[in-house]
Amino acid sequence: MKKILFFSLVILAQTCSFEPKGDVEELTVNLIARETDQIYESLVEVRRDLHRYPEISEQEKRTSTKIISYLDSIGLDVKTNIGGYGVVGILKGAQEGKHVAWRADIDALASDSPDVVEFASVNKGVRHICGHDVHTTIGLGIATVLAKHRDKIKGTIYFIFQPSEEIWNRGAQSMIADGLFDLIDPSEMYALHISPFPVGQVATKENELYSYFRKLKVQFNNILVKDEVVKYTQDLIKGHSTVNEKFWDLKNFMDPEIGIANPNSMYADYIAVSEPFHVKSGNNVVDISTMIYATDSLELDSMLVRLKENIGRSAYATKLLSVQYEKNDPTVYNDAKLTRETLQTIAAAYGKNTVAPIYGIVHLFNDDFSFFQKKVPGVYYLLGGSNFEKGVIAMPHSANFAVDEEAIRVGVQYFSTMLLSRLNN
Ligand SMILES: [Zn+2]
Ligand SMILES: [Zn+2]
Repeated sequence: MKKILFFSLVILAQTCSFEPKGDVEELTVNLIARETDQIYESLVEVRRDLHRYPEISEQEKRTSTKIISYLDSIGLDVKTNIGGYGVVGILKGAQEGKHVAWRADIDALASDSPDVVEFASVNKGVRHICGHDVHTTIGLGIATVLAKHRDKIKGTIYFIFQPSEEIWNRGAQSMIADGLFDLIDPSEMYALHISPFPVGQVATKENELYSYFRKLKVQFNNILVKDEVVKYTQDLIKGHSTVNEKFWDLKNFMDPEIGIANPNSMYADYIAVSEPFHVKSGNNVVDISTMIYATDSLELDSMLVRLKENIGRSAYATKLLSVQYEKNDPTVYNDAKLTRETLQTIAAAYGKNTVAPIYGIVHLFNDDFSFFQKKVPGVYYLLGGSNFEKGVIAMPHSANFAVDEEAIRVGVQYFSTMLLSRLNN
C-alpha cells in the first residue's frame, strides 16, 4: 500500500496545473513565513503534548483547557463550553470588515494499535490517529500569526475548536444547538484535514468532496418465505449500483488512472451499495438494511422512489411496510467561488504545484463540518501530511497513521495567508 500511494502521489504532484492569481503582497507572504518559523518549534511542542494526552469525543477537557489558556495568552477574546468542550477565540482586526471563521476539530479516537512516534499516547486505548492534534495546533498557529497583524486586519476572525467530530452527530451539531451562531456571525468558514497527500500540498474540489451516505432500510411483515424476500430485495437494491469491486479498494483512491486525481476518475459519479446487508427478523417483521454512497443526492432520492415502485409491482407488495433512508445528513460541500479564489491565493503565494486538483468524490470518509457548511458557505481542504521517503503515511484511521510535522508549518503559512486575503481584499 505504501508503494502504490508513493507512486501515484508523485504523479499527482507533477500533473497539477492550477492557475495562480495573486492578491497577497510578497512582503506579507515573507513576513508570515518568518513569523511561522519563529513559533514553529513551540507549535511542535504543543502538538506533541496534545498527542501524548489524547481525549476521545465528549471528553476533551484537558485539550480544551490547553486551547483556552493558549488563546488567552495571545490576547484573543475566548468563549468556552460551547456544545460540550467547544471553544471559540475571537480576533478583532483594527478596522471593520468581513467576518470569517476557521474551524479545527480537537478529539481523538479509541485505538489499541501501538503508537508509532516517540511522544506516544499515555492514555491507554486512545490515540490521535486522525490528526486532530495537528489540526488544533495549526489553528492555534494561524491565530498567533494573525494576532500579530491585528493593526492591518479589516474584519474579524473566529477560531472554532470543535469537539466530538468523530461521533458525527454531536460535535458541530452540538455547537450549533448550543448557540454558536448567536455568538459569532461569519459569512465564510474554512477547515482542513490531514490527508495522505505529500507534505506541502493542499487538495480540494468545488461542490461535494465526500459522497452522500444513507442507511437504506426495507421492512416487510408477515413473511412466510423470508429467504426469498431477502434475496429479492438485495438483488433489487444491488441492481442500482454503478461500481465494480475495484471501487471498494482504498488504495485505488490514489491510482493515477482511476483515482480521485484523474479527471476521468471512477469516483466522479456513482451509486455504490455496500455489502453485506444486515438482515434482522422478529415479531413477524423482516428488516433488510445497508449503506448506500452516492455523488448526487437527487439520485439517492429517485432510487428510493424506484425501489418502492418495483416492490409495489412484485409478489411481496402487500407485505411491504416501508422503504426509507434513516437520515438525510449533509456531506462536505465546498462553495465553488470560494474554492477557486482561495486555491488561487495559495497557488500565487506558494507556487502552483502546492495545489492538487481532485475530481473524484471519496466515499469512506466524511466530516461533520458539513453541518456548518449548511449554515455558512465555506471550503474544506485536504492538507498533505505524508513524507514517503521517511515512510510517513498520513492515512487517517490507519494503524500506522503518522504526520510529517512540517505540515504544521505549511498549514499555518498557507492558511494565514489565505485568511488575510479573504479579509483584506
Ligand atoms: Zn477521524
Ligand atoms: Zn478527522
